[in-house]
Amino acid sequence: MKMIMFNTKKYDQQSFAQALEGSKHTIRYVEAKLSIETVKLAAGYECICIFVNDIADAEVIRELAENGTKFIALRCAGFNNVDLHAARKHGVCVARVPEYSPFGVAEHALALMMSLNRKIHRAYNRVREANFALSGLLGFDLHGKVAGVVGTGKIGRIAATILNKGFGCKVLAYDKYPDAALAEDGVEYVELEKLLESCDIITLHCPLNPETHYLINASSIRLMKPGVMLINTSRGALIDTLAVIEGLKSGRIGSLGIDVYEEEGDLFFEDLSGEVIQDDVFARLLTLPNVLVTGHQAYFTLEALHNIAQTTVQNITEYEDNHTCANAVFCDRIRASNSSRLTQ
Ligand code: NAD
Repeated sequence: MKMIMFNTKKYDQQSFAQALEGSKHTIRYVEAKLSIETVKLAAGYECICIFVNDIADAEVIRELAENGTKFIALRCAGFNNVDLHAARKHGVCVARVPEYSPFGVAEHALALMMSLNRKIHRAYNRVREANFALSGLLGFDLHGKVAGVVGTGKIGRIAATILNKGFGCKVLAYDKYPDAALAEDGVEYVELEKLLESCDIITLHCPLNPETHYLINASSIRLMKPGVMLINTSRGALIDTLAVIEGLKSGRIGSLGIDVYEEEGDLFFEDLSGEVIQDDVFARLLTLPNVLVTGHQAYFTLEALHNIAQTTVQNITEYEDNHTCANAVFCDRIRASNSSRLTQ
């Protein structure tokens, strides 16, 4: 199948080159993100491949369909950037990579937690300046603390287990569909309010959808324990950033570790080191010593890149052969079997 891949970096090309060995598909790689401005590049391609910050809204999907696109292969798990109603309307099948590195993302959430707690980001800079003073670097033992995991799917479940078994935290969890095995293994499911009130650390692992948009907002922050550590490796808009900045200023939130940001589309995955950041809210976050930001790199492990490329190529082959795909989020022929359970 002839495919165009938007938003491509060199590392994507390398992993896809391996995955394509022996296959008949051809890929045109472009650096541009998919948007209404760039959608014309897809003309004549039956398949397009996109990532987390490409925009496949109703207008883009209409134009894609008019120009012959029938299959959108997401090389990520989340699909909040695709208008599924428009895809259905125009008969465009959408598939994703449901799982590629749950360990990598959970481990990154723990890395943010550990770095923030022990101030590794500050210590690293100090030591390079031969400043070995310890004031300002005081942390706490994770052992015995109460950690809250919101969303215990593939990633949240691993984060909960590391916190519980690895660090000896008491783990509270909130999920619309609790995991019985996790509950038997020492994780206690509670209502969201109880989790917010009780935890020293809260880590978000649920998808972004209308229900979870701004899950963390001014009123939920008011419920939190003073000094709570908040971690988000899921999707930026789970958090109302302005409310979180107020929480950080008042001390209600003791520290914040984020790998995602609600307006990250204009920032992440690019080298902007020579430019003036135009987003004042994001720039404010970067000034705070108790905030640690990474640029959507939680997934970025060798294993994940390999799995993303392999599964995407497999999705395309399956679609070409059968006009269906087991990893479809939406596809006319199989929607009854797969898409009904999916909310994001
Ligand atoms: P998953 O689908 O396996 O798990 C999501 C869990 O959230 C499910 O158990 C679901 O029941 C629960 N959930 C759904 N709605 C909820 C709600 N309203 N309240 C509480 N829980 C709810 O997904 P996953 O693979 O564990 O991924 C979780 C999220 O991580 C993805 O949606 C994606 O946004 C994000 N992610 C980020 C990166 C990264 O690099 N930063 C990489 C992969 C995934």
